[in-house]
Amino acid sequence: MLMSLFQCTARRVVSQAYCGLKAYSSSKKQKFCVEMARPSSNMADFREVFAKAKHIAIITGAGVSAESGVPTFRGAGGFWRKWQAQELATPEAFARNPSRVWEFYHYRREVMLSKHPNPAHIAIAECEKRLSKQGRSVVVITQNIDELHRKAGTKHLLEIHGSLFKTRCTNCGNVAANYKSPICPALAGKGAPDPETEDAAIPVEQLPQCEEDGCNGLLRPHVVWFGETLDPDILMEVEKELDICDLCLVVGTSSVVYPAAMFAPQVSARGVPVAEFNMEATPATNRFRFHFSGPCGTTLPPALARHETEIIS
Ligand SMILES: [Zn+2]
Repeated sequence: MLMSLFQCTARRVVSQAYCGLKAYSSSKKQKFCVEMARPSSNMADFREVFAKAKHIAIITGAGVSAESGVPTFRGAGGFWRKWQAQELATPEAFARNPSRVWEFYHYRREVMLSKHPNPAHIAIAECEKRLSKQGRSVVVITQNIDELHRKAGTKHLLEIHGSLFKTRCTNCGNVAANYKSPICPALAGKGAPDPETEDAAIPVEQLPQCEEDGCNGLLRPHVVWFGETLDPDILMEVEKELDICDLCLVVGTSSVVYPAAMFAPQVSARGVPVAEFNMEATPATNRFRFHFSGPCGTTLPPALARHETEIIS
């Protein structure tokens, strides 16, 4: 998946991602990398930078959702029946067995009924609302498909992997918001995750169908699957936001792994401060100005709280 995602990213992102390997060249980049070599975890220093920022880009990953108890179906113990996400979240799996893939997504949608935004989601949304009154902007760029940022009240949201609560027609391509529970009668009570559960084997015509005039095409979840590329329009918006941001936060994902690895290095290379809020530091952390270790539900709220210099009318 990583390869195809990189193919649709601006070349400069990739080249700058290797900045750290050029320690022995005599370019200006080298000097820059050396200067970035000591990330600070001084919150007072971060708060100074935060107070001056006019355009803040916040990149969020799975860690933020995990703190709300959202399962990712990745890694140890991350199974739905006997599969992990990378075996079900593919166009091939859907072509082979749309009923099984819909059971998986139906389960994930239903699970979200009992999940709520955590203090990290809420701190981000409150920060956007407050700063907008001061003529300052916050944009959230997320790989999470659970809409918890939206639930928390975030308005300016770029969901680079789509959403569990959107569908796309495999026939006419129409994208629509869909919060129905169950999404169709045939899926009611289906999707149990236990390994013993039998496939429901629902006929295609009873799976979610397009409601556009006379289409009746099979709907699929409007999410980016393994092997698929990101929506170029959303990527362009992301690029635009990263070009104007004067502070970048990377939350709940390491800066060495996708998606932050695609975006944060280009921001950092412009000399813009990047602050990581993640469970642990990584070697790439050294490229960034700040790093705060720990659960982001704990570290983020004090970081984004009202600064004493903020004037709210
Ligand atoms: Zn359609």
